[in-house]
Amino acid sequence: MSLIVFSPHLDDGVLSVSAQLARPDALLLTVFGGVPPVETARGSWDHLTGASGCDRRQRERLAENDAAAAALGCGVENWNELELQYRVEELDRGGLTARIVSVLTDFDEIWVPAAVGGHPDHAVVRDLVLDAAQKTATRAQVRLHADLPYSIQFGWPSWVTGSTPDPYLDVDHWLSAELVEGGFDRDLLVPHVHALTGHEQDIKRRACDQYRSQLPALLLDPRATSRWDALLRFEVFWTFA
Ligand SMILES: [Zn+2]
Repeated sequence: MSLIVFSPHLDDGVLSVSAQLARPDALLLTVFGGVPPVETARGSWDHLTGASGCDRRQRERLAENDAAAAALGCGVENWNELELQYRVEELDRGGLTARIVSVLTDFDEIWVPAAVGGHPDHAVVRDLVLDAAQKTATRAQVRLHADLPYSIQFGWPSWVTGSTPDPYLDVDHWLSAELVEGGFDRDLLVPHVHALTGHEQDIKRRACDQYRSQLPALLLDPRATSRWDALLRFEVFWTFA
């Protein structure tokens, strides 16, 4: 059973669905993996993450992603699209959809970010892959996954962890609203919780540790154990009813 994980940026796929990427015949495809021209001004994310130059930082991120993929044992492919903070021209959505269509037929499962958190690059990847999948695949092949760490900004809902719901924090409603915001009918999505085994948590920890340029700005610090544990313990996805 082969699978492809569409990662908007160089870290999203591994942070969100490492357990799937550790399966045999998995490919991690990063759409916005392009290195910007050297004269490109640093974007807000590069400033936040202390980058001295955006081309150098992107190469650093490519190396981090390679190391993370090696920890999981998955294949890696990076497309040369520029992410939002570097783009000066409109995205060629038609060309990108055609490119996505051209790779989909090689895979049994297609993993797509739900774009929880609403980052425009995540939403573009979600929309274009779903559009492409409609042309070449069946809905049964598509897995919509919760983006991490954005999906755990309030922690996981109780239906994920099995814990007692907090009477003053309705994470379930918030997460559902994020899906509705993305254009989904909640009644047509079937939720799945993957509780990572000890071994899966170990390799996810090793893989995520590679993204050292990104973890502080993502508020992911192994010493801040509750958020780090939430990242390592569960991965959530939806299939279409
Ligand atoms: Zn991202």
